[in-house]
Amino acid sequence: MIEEFDFDRVANRLEEVCKKRHAHDFYIKLNEMGVLGALERKVASLPHFEPKELLTLDLDLAGMQQIVLQFYGELDLELKNRIEKTLSDPFFEHKFSEPNGNGINEGSRVGFEWKNNVAQNGEIVLNPSNNLIGIITVAHEFAHLLEERIQKRIKNKEDCLGEIASMFIEKVFAEYMLKKSMIEKKDYRILKEHDLNCFSNNVRVLVEENEILSGLEVPISGVQLRELHKKYAFSDRKGVLMRRVQQMTGIGMPKNVQPESGQKRFRYVAGEVVSGALFEDFKKNPKETLGRFENFLSSNAEMEEAEAYQTLLGENYFQKLSTSFQNLNVEQEKSK
Ligand SMILES: [Zn+2]
Repeated sequence: MIEEFDFDRVANRLEEVCKKRHAHDFYIKLNEMGVLGALERKVASLPHFEPKELLTLDLDLAGMQQIVLQFYGELDLELKNRIEKTLSDPFFEHKFSEPNGNGINEGSRVGFEWKNNVAQNGEIVLNPSNNLIGIITVAHEFAHLLEERIQKRIKNKEDCLGEIASMFIEKVFAEYMLKKSMIEKKDYRILKEHDLNCFSNNVRVLVEENEILSGLEVPISGVQLRELHKKYAFSDRKGVLMRRVQQMTGIGMPKNVQPESGQKRFRYVAGEVVSGALFEDFKKNPKETLGRFENFLSSNAEMEEAEAYQTLLGENYFQKLSTSFQNLNVEQEKSK
């Protein structure tokens, strides 16, 4: 059935563009480790929540930043100082915009881009939506500013560690807002549901991509896969592959959302599990956990995954990770 679509021709053409980072290898690794099977079973047991109205904020960008920096300052003054220092570094070009839109994805594109000009300047893009997810995203992106790879201006690796710090900060910040009565329990719960929907969506994409790739038996790189997403996700072309690509990009998602695949998406899956474990530690022992978090921040550019988990969670990191994985559901929050 896959022959209906002339995949080889497209893949070969894309092969010329980029030969690095084969998505095949990534999925083979995940399969060998049993990760994909575990994720698939987990996601089958997760409820899907109807997206609910998010709290709208009456804040401009300066107001959002002020709240977020205040939060960092209360968490650890050193972290706040480091963010402010990076923000004032002329190496980074800023493209910040006022909060707009009210959608979850729409208008909330933020992050880092690396310009391939002579100076290799990094660009920080911050374009939050005017709601709770928007301000959480500001806190998330500012956590990236703390990472050593940013400070050292190392181009983002497509590893599995890239979203741990940012997703941990999201959790701490959400709880901070709840404690400061900036949001209500209901809003906190909607956030949790949103996070879980993102998690299960990401897992589904990983599992489906893996099915496609193992069915194709053509080595294809992560970059090629992303090109395919972009090119064909919304086209009318027929064939099993096309329908699968449509499924993996998430029907109903705004077209301006950058499709992500493979390693890049796995970062959010791993990020959810690892940051969840770290957050549990933080609730029990904030000071010690923050110390470990800082050790992670200051060396993650060089760390292997197991080393990073150990730095963050201690010797029994594997146990903590599996508990965090098992606890991934919103019912946990009910009883607290
Ligand atoms: Zn991020």
